[in-house]
Amino acid sequence: MDLTNRHTVVMGLARTGVACARFLALRGARVVATDLRDAVTLAAVLNELQEYDIRFVLGRHDEQDFLLADLIVVSPGVPMDHPLLTAAKAAGREIVSEIELAARFIDAPLVAITGTNGKTTTTTLAGELFTACGFTTYVGGNIGNPLIELPESGTAVQRVVAEISSFQLEWIATFRPRVAALLNISEDHLDRYAGYQEYIDAKLRIFENQTSEDYAVVNRDDDLVWQAARSLKARLIPFSRKRELEEGIFCQGDEIVFRHQDAECRFPVAGFKLQGVHNLENIMAALACALLLGCEREPCLALLNRFEPLHHRMEFVREVNGVRYFEDSKATNVGSVAKALESFDNITLIAGGKDKGGSYAPLAELVRSRVRQLVLIGEAADRIAAELGSLTATCKAASLEEAVALAAARSRPGGVVLLSPACSSFDMFRDYEERAQRFIAAVKAL
Ligand code: ADP
Repeated sequence: MDLTNRHTVVMGLARTGVACARFLALRGARVVATDLRDAVTLAAVLNELQEYDIRFVLGRHDEQDFLLADLIVVSPGVPMDHPLLTAAKAAGREIVSEIELAARFIDAPLVAITGTNGKTTTTTLAGELFTACGFTTYVGGNIGNPLIELPESGTAVQRVVAEISSFQLEWIATFRPRVAALLNISEDHLDRYAGYQEYIDAKLRIFENQTSEDYAVVNRDDDLVWQAARSLKARLIPFSRKRELEEGIFCQGDEIVFRHQDAECRFPVAGFKLQGVHNLENIMAALACALLLGCEREPCLALLNRFEPLHHRMEFVREVNGVRYFEDSKATNVGSVAKALESFDNITLIAGGKDKGGSYAPLAELVRSRVRQLVLIGEAADRIAAELGSLTATCKAASLEEAVALAAARSRPGGVVLLSPACSSFDMFRDYEERAQRFIAAVKAL
């Protein structure tokens, strides 16, 4: 794809947009970079991009730029039905997401991983598996470093592993991973989509351009995923914790078994550092991706035996007076909270934050059977109380520190205090990491 002198618009100047603007400018495109935030707010961005030939439209968008562009690159933060995008589309302009643009310039086999939960863990693990097996590997996407930074850097790698969010899939056209994995689907981001089906449809687009030469790694135990998988064009590699498979990867006793093209290899799970049933699913998905693209059993097993859990995902903090404290700040939807609740008993659950528009009712049974106390914080406190408060003892706290104090006062030895919010953090914190740090500090101060 030749970008020389092409009129391009980069919409949204967060990290992904900035990287796209740089890349397009380096390739000789005429770049307009636009964002609703003004030049003062974006001073750092302007500084970073000052040596590039880029025209900025800040504090507003200019419709003419959109109507005349050869190519518009949309940041994942921009809603798909934005009026300017609708107008540009009607005018026949080409609109792409960053992953679509990046993939056009990537030659190495691409592994793309999506799902409501487990993306970061699975992506990180898959990347480490490839590295452990001797492949030079780039890990990027939704995980932090945009995919476009790979072609921008000009580095040659042998494998690329990308974490992909539903938002990034909204504006793809030819994006075609050699291996695409869909981990699970449950309600999330209903504040951004018209309904659950729109969110599901966006996720399924990861398979859209695959052919029978590609692989689809799919969760056999997730009814929604499995239902959708049956109409895919790619070769199916299901993973399952619950059943033996003729082709795919599954748990059997204390082993994970990978069965493919009449061959089989086995991985004893006893030494794995990643714990919990959800992580078995993540491990199976990552292993399948790695084994399908050339990895060998021995280095994979050795890596699995030393791979540590990522921070802020069901992480043990401390034990005080016989009560164990766990921090799961990354659990921002009901699907991830359900996995945390399934992992413990006698739970004092601290939940709440910024509501994302979904229902908390899917947690009802687990709250009734496993949660002794519910301590609610943030904007969503009243909604959660209305949906779950009748099922167990429930109270509200004005701050996370107060919630920790209340939880400590109300928990008995043998119990667990768990921060697993089911909400995003932006009502009270900068991000989920700050929420985690504040919880850890409060627990350490007990
Ligand atoms: P993502 O990148 O999709 O947000 P993470 O690996 O960061 O996924 O984990 C986010 C949250 O989801 C954490 O609370 C974690 O414990 C939980 N989680 C991880 N893997 C799974 C899974 N396979 N199913 C359900 N929840 C999971």
